[in-house]
Amino acid sequence: SFDAFVIEDAEGKPKGGFKRLTLADLPDNDVLVEVAYSTVNYKDGLAVSGKGRIARKLPMVAGIDLAGTVVESRSPDWKAGDKVVVNGWGLSETQWGGYSRFQRLKPEWLTRLPDAFSLEEAMGIGTAGYTAALCVDALEKWGVIQPGGKEVLVTGAAGGVGSVAVALLAKRGYPVVASTGRPETHDYLRGLGATGFIDRAALLEKGAPLQKERWAGGVDSVGGQTLVNALSQTVWGGAIAACGLAGSADLPGTVLPHILRSVTLLGVDSVMAPPDRRNAAWTRLARDLDKDKLAAMYEVQPFQALPDLATKILAGQIRGRVVVDLKG
Ligand code: NAP
Repeated sequence: SFDAFVIEDAEGKPKGGFKRLTLADLPDNDVLVEVAYSTVNYKDGLAVSGKGRIARKLPMVAGIDLAGTVVESRSPDWKAGDKVVVNGWGLSETQWGGYSRFQRLKPEWLTRLPDAFSLEEAMGIGTAGYTAALCVDALEKWGVIQPGGKEVLVTGAAGGVGSVAVALLAKRGYPVVASTGRPETHDYLRGLGATGFIDRAALLEKGAPLQKERWAGGVDSVGGQTLVNALSQTVWGGAIAACGLAGSADLPGTVLPHILRSVTLLGVDSVMAPPDRRNAAWTRLARDLDKDKLAAMYEVQPFQALPDLATKILAGQIRGRVVVDLKG
């Protein structure tokens, strides 16, 4: 038997805890993976703490990410020994997820671990980092940001999505302005490539629907008034890639930036992103995420620390990313 973190029904409320499982308990999917590492994303924080209803059926093994090695496979696409990464696909929502030493998964959910990364590094990136790559892909595809051109804004910059977005954008030569509420992370963010800072409080204030044009583009993981201000400060024809709600799920703005400045709101979802987008995002990460920057971004913690880490990420106290070691 082995350890897993399972959300169960406790008198109508979801409640998480460590549980011993056996292989016979796992779902009947085609590929059995020995999980080496998982991670803690914001959504994992909601699931593990019980503060958000992430699981849509119970009992549910939480963890939206995993990295590990195939043990056995009924699919011709995978064989024992293959190193794989899984991000999203409903893990922790409708499918059992990564907080388990072993998991059985559908073959189409697996992404081959890029040669550039170890299993630990893949979870140093995790859904947060892969989503940051999807956001940068979306901005570049839209064609509005220029290396050496106008500034690109990253909100929630010291968080997981934000940290990776800063590093990826800076590597391509875009001038990155980091918005953070933690001035003590400025050196860290400068190390990742940020060249300017804006206090997150400044983006939380309600402003005019059209403000001074500053950002060619942006990556927003905060939502709410922050996203509205980002859109209001975007140049004619620019775009903001929005992926998060760490501040708020509201969008309390006007259509004016869109109809008077052709500003685009690019929505980014990582969970159901098709394989070609995933592969493009991981290819970008392998090409543009410097190893030393990645190393500076994450820490490794034991599986037992998970409940504590969940509380911390919801309180905005995790800098960068945290990897959870399931081997110990
Ligand atoms: P995280 O590590 O906790 O980062 C979020 C950051 O947002 C925090 O570090 C903080 O940055 C900032 N923040 C937190 N609370 C705030 C508030 N009340 N007002 C303003 N800023 C606040 O979380 P993450 O894993 O990077 O995820 C970030 C967001 O993206 C979450 O909402 C998550 O659900 C979402 N997400 C979505 C997808 C998708 O598929 N669409 C994928 C991954 C993540 P500073 O300390 O720098 O201010």
